[in-house]
Amino acid sequence: MTDHQKVYVMLRAKGLRMTSPKKRILDVFLNNQDRMLSVADIAALLEGSAAIDNATVYRNIQKFTELGILESFNDEQGVNRYTVFEQEHHHYLICTGCGKIIKIPCVKCFWQTQALKNDFQETHHKLEVYGKCAECAAMKAEI
Ligand SMILES: [Zn+2]
Ligand SMILES: [Zn+2]
Repeated sequence: MTDHQKVYVMLRAKGLRMTSPKKRILDVFLNNQDRMLSVADIAALLEGSAAIDNATVYRNIQKFTELGILESFNDEQGVNRYTVFEQEHHHYLICTGCGKIIKIPCVKCFWQTQALKNDFQETHHKLEVYGKCAECAAMKAEI
């Protein structure tokens, strides 16, 4: 199954009716899985096809996040950005310049050692590393 099919199957299993705006918004996410997208990014990526207003985009993103299809992050400016949620546990390097994301494996043994040392029972953890990707760093150097 492709990622697209997997998400559609998951939506149906959760009882969500697949409308045309929903499908188009999801497709934008599925086709841009290497980036964190803000509502404004989605609106820009949807341009050219029949318009979907920002309120509809926002409402659907909220719904998808609730259902665990998208995960959200706050960027440096406090803007919510979203990407397709993946079952497999991992972390992100997030570019604050272009929103590009690079998945990195978890350093679980490090957390576990620290938790153990402090007699702390971990339930879950989150780690995002913010910075500039190679392209954005190079662009900045040119200016
Ligand atoms: Zn970048
Ligand atoms: Zn982890």
